[in-house]
Amino acid sequence: MTIVVYNTLTRETEPFETLEPGQVRMYVCGPTVYDEAHVGHAMSSIVFDFVRRYLEYRGYQVRHVMNFTDVDDKIIARAHKLGEDPAALANRYVERYQDQLDRLNVRRPTALPRVSQTIDEIIAMIEGLIERGHAYATPSGDVYFRVHTDADYGKLSRRKLEEAVSGTRVTSSEEKLDEGDFALWKAAKPGEPSWDSPWGKGRPGWHIECSAMNMRYLGEQIDIHGGGNDLIFPHHENEIAQTESFTGKPFARYWMHNGMLQLKGEKMSKSLGNLVTIDEFLAEHDADVLRVVIAGSGYRKPLMFNSDVLADGERALERLRSALRPATGDGTAGPAAEQLADHVRAARAAFEAAMDNDFNTAGGLAAIFDLVRAINAARDAGIGGEPFADAQGVFRTLTDVLGLRLAGPEAGEQSIAPFVELLLVVRQDLRKAKQWALSDKIRDELKALGVIVEDSPQGSTWRLAD
Ligand SMILES: [Zn+2]
Repeated sequence: MTIVVYNTLTRETEPFETLEPGQVRMYVCGPTVYDEAHVGHAMSSIVFDFVRRYLEYRGYQVRHVMNFTDVDDKIIARAHKLGEDPAALANRYVERYQDQLDRLNVRRPTALPRVSQTIDEIIAMIEGLIERGHAYATPSGDVYFRVHTDADYGKLSRRKLEEAVSGTRVTSSEEKLDEGDFALWKAAKPGEPSWDSPWGKGRPGWHIECSAMNMRYLGEQIDIHGGGNDLIFPHHENEIAQTESFTGKPFARYWMHNGMLQLKGEKMSKSLGNLVTIDEFLAEHDADVLRVVIAGSGYRKPLMFNSDVLADGERALERLRSALRPATGDGTAGPAAEQLADHVRAARAAFEAAMDNDFNTAGGLAAIFDLVRAINAARDAGIGGEPFADAQGVFRTLTDVLGLRLAGPEAGEQSIAPFVELLLVVRQDLRKAKQWALSDKIRDELKALGVIVEDSPQGSTWRLAD
């Protein structure tokens, strides 16, 4: 069994082979933090969470990096409008997004770098590009990447250089050598955040941050580079140009792009005024609903997002939860028990075959529904005990690959109290033994499940998140 992945770079589905056996280096472009994150952002994070969870299920160790663009024109503009410090504004939305990722049950990336904390690496990379003849500084202190020095520029988006250039929105600078050259460093304007550099005070352009963060956290070459398909050009095209011109090596082995979320057939965007924020969504729906809807659609296609689709998602989630109802009988042998065991094996095999095929979550979900039917039929036939528990265990394992929590609406404070208390007792012992990493892990995992732990000198208390 081999995993195959559709690679935007080659437009082919290819066997998945990593640079280092058993290790995956995955970088996914994150949000520009200037306003409320919307369900389109959630979609991208959830798609690559599916990818990560499945690779981990298959035994890979995944180093997963997602950036926050916390230095950007849009942040500066909004901060000025609100009379706020741009860094404080960005920081607020970074923290909000991390909290939202927890509520969406997205596994925390291994690193979550921000532009403002990567300035040294960005400057070093720009210096290297200038030394190698791929970039130039202008008298006013901007630095541009010289597109004509990159022989295969346009290979990801399949644009010829002339087309690519004409597709670029140009802030026509007299100092640019060619129209398609793009900014690596922008000289400071009054009232903008800026940093010292060999070219005077300024701030990085957008694309260079991802090249520099990849280099810092994952190295010169990575396995998977992900993001929304609206980033293919110019962002990812420019990332490849910068990184490969700097290292002289192929950059990402597989370029994976998720489709855009469509509201009533239109792309969701701020300019169209049809955004649904993550907070608005989670106020009305379980995060599992969004996961079921995204999984059912398949990651490369545009995701239709409307009330019908969400209602289908709610119903599908109810059906999934039905598999967790306890057994009513205690039969452990006979044809019904054997049939259940056969169905469990078949469902797991079908799930893996689907997911191996370019993370086909729709196929994976279909296999899980087959398992739901088998479990519910076995319960009706009076099967219980170990065969039934085994089937539910496999069901839990497979739904966990899709990040589904499947907490029933009835799962309130009362029913979880003894278990949370027990975890807190264990955690107290870990803290006494100075096992901080484990104790933090318990706190973080509980938080991901919606249980907030608060520590004080008197001990720890807990409550359910709102
Ligand atoms: Zn990026």
